[in-house]
Amino acid sequence: MSRLPLSFASTAVFATLLLLSGCAQKPLVSLSASPAPMAATQEQPPSLQESTVFSHQEEFQQCLESLRPAAIKTGITDATWQLYTEKLTPDLSLLPRLNKQPEFSQPIWDYIAGLVDDERVDLAKRKMASYDSELTQISAQYRVPREAIVAIWGIESNFGQNAGRLPLLRSLSTLSCLGRRQVFFRGEFFATLRILQAGDFTEDRLKGSWAGAFGQTQFMPSTFERVAVDFDGDGRRDLIDNTADALASTANYLKLANWVSGQPWGIEVKLPEGFDAAGESRRNKRSLSVWMQRGLLRVDGMPIVVASGAEASGVDTPPTNPVTADTLAGLLLPAGAKGPAFLVMRNFDAFYSYNAAESYGLAIAHLADRIAGAGDFVTPWPTDDLALSRNQRRELQELLLKRGHTIGEVDGRLGERSRAAIRIEQERLGQPMTGRGGMKVLLALREQ
Ligand code: CA
Repeated sequence: MSRLPLSFASTAVFATLLLLSGCAQKPLVSLSASPAPMAATQEQPPSLQESTVFSHQEEFQQCLESLRPAAIKTGITDATWQLYTEKLTPDLSLLPRLNKQPEFSQPIWDYIAGLVDDERVDLAKRKMASYDSELTQISAQYRVPREAIVAIWGIESNFGQNAGRLPLLRSLSTLSCLGRRQVFFRGEFFATLRILQAGDFTEDRLKGSWAGAFGQTQFMPSTFERVAVDFDGDGRRDLIDNTADALASTANYLKLANWVSGQPWGIEVKLPEGFDAAGESRRNKRSLSVWMQRGLLRVDGMPIVVASGAEASGVDTPPTNPVTADTLAGLLLPAGAKGPAFLVMRNFDAFYSYNAAESYGLAIAHLADRIAGAGDFVTPWPTDDLALSRNQRRELQELLLKRGHTIGEVDGRLGERSRAAIRIEQERLGQPMTGRGGMKVLLALREQ
């Protein structure tokens, strides 16, 4: 959950919001805060930067103090509050990240290609084999397919390898007092204090993403409280160091998000010529019979639903919820009417809810399918400059390094410095200077 998650639906957070809405709030520092007015003095004033930081620190402490009564109302003791808040300082480096989230700043094909590539599919298959017995049990108990569980694990934390390094209390207390969405983050800050109070983790182990998602599942603290399970029965819900607990907690998340056992997340479809997609969306669900009447077909040209009895008989049918003409689905066009089109059902919404972004939901869904043996989407993305896998991104970075660009380490992530270097190379190559790392610039640099 690197993006701000949709945990608002949780009753715990909702209750916190109600509590907070009644509290008198002092004005809080905004992102563009200018230094607080200083008392008139003949002494040398501190530099602009120092005084800004000082003002943030002071206001941060005052803000924390103002949050104490609301925190106590959620079950945090005075002793816990004292113990964990007295030494907190804000981490101002988080603030710029609030407004920058990769799901919304990249073309969907780049976003998907970076998350769902052969490398991750292969690793997922190996991990699935290592945890075969746990996954068999978890999948049966929660009635969620193992591929879905492993796909989330792979995208959230790269199978536990990248669970974040920022101290949760510091991040969440900062975001509770600075920047936008403070009310949301206060609920998570208080949840973190309750987790520490309950003894699930020690403070030094509780590290995560800048937004406070932690552990192999990247749950937000309130999600942890609501969803995490102790699968191995050792008395701790350990999503950080215990993979079985993490996998079972992910399965429980999907179950609580109304996973429909035996149903796919969606179906890739083909729109009829001249189809009017205005007003259609994931949320706007219609029965598959309506979609068929409107001329949609599976992407291979077959009907979306085969009349019952026409499918192969004699096979043991598990007690599942198959797709029928009455099944509800919304039309998802992640890149507009010219790109891949999907009819998405309830299980897509379960994926979506994990991180509240359709691009994210599609990445998880696609990775789960790829792990299960499916290929790429049939309809190509509407671009003539194909997206790069992480491996190809690393190759592009190597080529940029070779050409003398200072881009930092080769990590497969095309950050600011890589994009600046790409722009320079694009100019030299006579390509549009987009700074985007796609196949065109990679191919051109390979030739040289
Ligand atoms: Ca456990």
